[in-house]
Amino acid sequence: MTQRIVIVGAGSGGTMLANNLVKALREQQRDDVEVVLVGNGEDHLYQPGLLYVALDLELPAHFHRRQRRLLLPGVHLTNIPAARIDRKEQGVQLADGSHLAYDYLVIATGSHPDLDEISGFRQGAYSFYTEPEALRLRDALRDFRQGRILITIGIPHKCPVAPLEFTLLLDDVLRRQERRKEIEILYTYPIARLHSLEPVAQWAQEQFEQRDIHSEIFVNMEEIDANEQVVHTMEGIDYSYDLLVGIPPHKGAAVIRNSPDLGDPDGWVPTDRKTLQMKGDEHIFVLGDATDLPISKAGSTTHYEVAVLLGNLLRALDGSRATQTYNGKAFCFIEADEAQATYITFDYDHPPQPVAASPLLHWFKAAYNETYWLSLRGVL
Ligand SMILES: Cc1cc2nc3c(=O)[nH]c(=O)nc-3n(C[C@H](O)[C@H](O)[C@H](O)COP(=O)(O)OP(=O)(O)OC[C@H]3O[C@@H](n4cnc5c(N)ncnc54)[C@H](O)[C@@H]3O)c2cc1C
Repeated sequence: MTQRIVIVGAGSGGTMLANNLVKALREQQRDDVEVVLVGNGEDHLYQPGLLYVALDLELPAHFHRRQRRLLLPGVHLTNIPAARIDRKEQGVQLADGSHLAYDYLVIATGSHPDLDEISGFRQGAYSFYTEPEALRLRDALRDFRQGRILITIGIPHKCPVAPLEFTLLLDDVLRRQERRKEIEILYTYPIARLHSLEPVAQWAQEQFEQRDIHSEIFVNMEEIDANEQVVHTMEGIDYSYDLLVGIPPHKGAAVIRNSPDLGDPDGWVPTDRKTLQMKGDEHIFVLGDATDLPISKAGSTTHYEVAVLLGNLLRALDGSRATQTYNGKAFCFIEADEAQATYITFDYDHPPQPVAASPLLHWFKAAYNETYWLSLRGVL
């Protein structure tokens, strides 16, 4: 009898898994498994590209591909988004009211900044975590000549190093354009250091000191007064700004929050840190940003998870227990300026240690930005 796997979310993880799955099934000469990918748009955006868009270093079109063209034959794509997941019925209700039954479900619905979490954010702040926001910020930065650029960050957010990269690249771009002298950069972070990962915080501190980038810790946005251009914080200190770049705390997808017994109130799905199965439901796997795992919400984590999840999913199809285990592995490049980068790699048990920034690492990052499309097809 044919079994159906439904993957909800056609972003990095969903696309990569769907392609690797049909490849594996073909290699096993199995034609008794149907793979359905539920997306919500014709286009696929390489989100890390938004960093370069916001800083006017690249155009958005460079980071877009047609979703359908990224998929191998055998993946059935529907672009009608999932409205509700019903665990008891083992089914997904789509936005047009139709119903997709599943034998196994993979939740790969990602995360997004909640622009309404902080009062006044939409009126007073710029961001670069969505394409419209990145373009708005790009335009504002083009005209900005003097004053304070304040960078404020909420937790959790995807790609924990992206705000740091933005700050360092911003400094470099403004220097190249001979605008830096009249502009103060003030980077703030919500906890007792400049980054959640201690070695990265130390590395950032050194970079900031060398480059006259100012910083403050324990800064948690509470409210933004767009008229007065002030950020009121939970710590009771106010920060004035001339241009505010904010990364609001992220949430999981609405479909998770709108479905019974699926996720927590913020939309994260309780996930077994090793097998990547949903806790308490062996018919559901969770991939990428949608998990509640204590790891970076990043494309690289998602990439490493795909191999483990695929192995366990194939075993589940045969009625076997999950044996593959994910160790929390992540790998992130960090742009230090326009010509140099460093990287960190870490897992559940081993903290990262940034190496010295170099042009070679910058080119590795640039190369990955181009080869991302191959990794989606399971080539890398
Ligand atoms: C500015 C920026 C810079 C970044 N830089 C890096 C980096 O350098 N390195 C790195 O590793 N990561 C980086 N990331 C993070 C990386 O892009 C994400 O962590 C990664 O895309 C997560 O993959 P995912 O499959 O879990 O989610 P996504 O790729 O976000 O995919 C989720 C998909 O599900 C869709 N979806 C949601 N709800 C529904 C629904 N109801 N029905 C159907 N579809 C739905 C979403 O629209 C989305 O298309 C960056 C992100 C940003 C924004």
